[in-house]
Amino acid sequence: PVIFNVEQFRRQFPFFAHNPDWVYLDNAATSQKPQRMLDVLHQFYLEQNSNIHRGAHLLADRATTRFEQARQQIAEFIQAPTAANIVFTSGTTAALNQLAFGLMGTVLQPGDRILLTALEHHANIVSWQLHCQTYGVEIDVVPLTAERQLDLAAYQQLLKRSPKLVSFCHVSNVLGQVLPVQQMVALAQQAGALTVIDGAQGISFQPVDVQHLDCDFYVFSGHKVYGPTGIGVLYGKTTALDLLRPLLGGGEMIKKVAFSGSTYADLPQRLEAGTAAIAEAIALGDVLLWLSQQDRVGMQQHKAELTLYAHQQLAALPQIELLTNASHNAGIITFNVHGEHPSDVATLLNEQCIALRSGQHCAMPLFDSMALQGALRWSLAAYTTQQELDTAIKALTNALELLCPLP
Ligand code: PMP
Repeated sequence: PVIFNVEQFRRQFPFFAHNPDWVYLDNAATSQKPQRMLDVLHQFYLEQNSNIHRGAHLLADRATTRFEQARQQIAEFIQAPTAANIVFTSGTTAALNQLAFGLMGTVLQPGDRILLTALEHHANIVSWQLHCQTYGVEIDVVPLTAERQLDLAAYQQLLKRSPKLVSFCHVSNVLGQVLPVQQMVALAQQAGALTVIDGAQGISFQPVDVQHLDCDFYVFSGHKVYGPTGIGVLYGKTTALDLLRPLLGGGEMIKKVAFSGSTYADLPQRLEAGTAAIAEAIALGDVLLWLSQQDRVGMQQHKAELTLYAHQQLAALPQIELLTNASHNAGIITFNVHGEHPSDVATLLNEQCIALRSGQHCAMPLFDSMALQGALRWSLAAYTTQQELDTAIKALTNALELLCPLP
């Protein structure tokens, strides 16, 4: 078998040559970009820039063709049945807000319940909460077990309350856990619920097949999967997208507009008012095509090995309390230093050019449920090297010597 060559993969990312002093362990926040993606983005603005769908000229037609080709590439990347199942949004947050707005008052009625999990990012909590009071919808939350795993027995119990919708992350951005999403979707379907998967972290972990998962909706951001910021995807089954009331009204999303009333365009345009992030969509389509041509099994294996290695190195430091474990983990290592505030540790690591996240990682309810103020997070990508982890461990050891020297 061909072994995944991390150095060769890494050389495709110019960021590292520009930042040779840094160890970048903040990939769950955003990934670095391959040169090819930057070239596509640049080339569009340099040579092809035109607005799409409304041009009476060849340049607009060409831009439209490339934009629609990107939609097709994205559909193929996640195995969506047709390109019309792909709605462009500005990211995961925007997609979840479109879902909450689009389902509240249409599918979700007073007295209905929706089911979320204790692991969720604020984007998958507050987007629903914004409307719950107005529409009289109640939220139930699947708790964690004492081992900080999602409590699947509690999930099954809560499904007995007949939620109309269940929304959960594919991979936790705090605990790195890969949820058994296919099983969770099947159970939700048996309970008669619509299913939403927040794929912000899941999309870069392993190939996603939305038809195999059979979820109604799957959402993700381009920037966490080697693509640009400002572009994301709302995938939905056709029957599910048909349920959505558009969040944004305006150009592109209509058939006929009159002051007496307007009619809407077909999917996916019905949910895409206004000028899209055209260059970014094209670059995302291309980068996902590129990613599908990489050794994804090798990438995943490399990340799994480094995740295990980082856990082993951290577990050997007596001052460290690990919140994650290396199994079923997508490359996220979260920990605290006994008796120290995570931001103090992060400051000392930043001074040594280690880029990481500290705090509550947009998951305050999760930290409340663990009775913790926050934590430090290292998140890996396929271009992370063992040498980088060794440098980070060394920097952490230096910080520990300053903060809490062993007797
Ligand atoms: N959900 C999860 C699980 C995330 O990790 C993130 C990003 N941290 C989001 C949602 C929000 O993504 P974005 O900021 O790109 O909209």
